Amino acid sequence: MDKFTRCVQCDQPLVDVVKEIDGWDFGGWKYVADLPMKRCESGCGGGYLDGATLMRFEHSIALALVDAESVNGAMFVFMRKSFGMGRALLAETLEVEEAALEAAERRKAEPMPSAWVEQLKHAIRECVTERNPFALRRVEVSRSPAEVRT
Ligand SMILES: [Zn+2]
Repeated sequence: MDKFTRCVQCDQPLVDVVKEIDGWDFGGWKYVADLPMKRCESGCGGGYLDGATLMRFEHSIALALVDAESVNGAMFVFMRKSFGMGRALLAETLEVEEAALEAAERRKAEPMPSAWVEQLKHAIRECVTERNPFALRRVEVSRSPAEVRT
């Protein structure tokens, strides 16, 4: 949180705030959490979320998804990317064609094959360690897709 002390837009001091931040769209719903960030005191609209906080948010969501009963394509892609695993490498691990994995991932709202999901969940439990996850709230996505981060 120490990277920014002044607004890059207007050079006014930044203050610490806690703001509700939207997570990723998982096909009609998403997780949100209250994240610490910096906001410009002048009210120019400048706000700064640091990389470590964003990563902690990402890890928190990945770990929450490990407990999900059904994992769709959008959730699967998020989980795979949350620990930096490329599609080609995962396809190799799952012993499937990369094209087949890509096709399944593109059907964002449809459940992924459970055998693939189990392997990915196992990898996340092994690789994603977050000792202090954010409290998440699961909410319906009602806003325009343009606001969804990828
Ligand atoms: Zn500003």
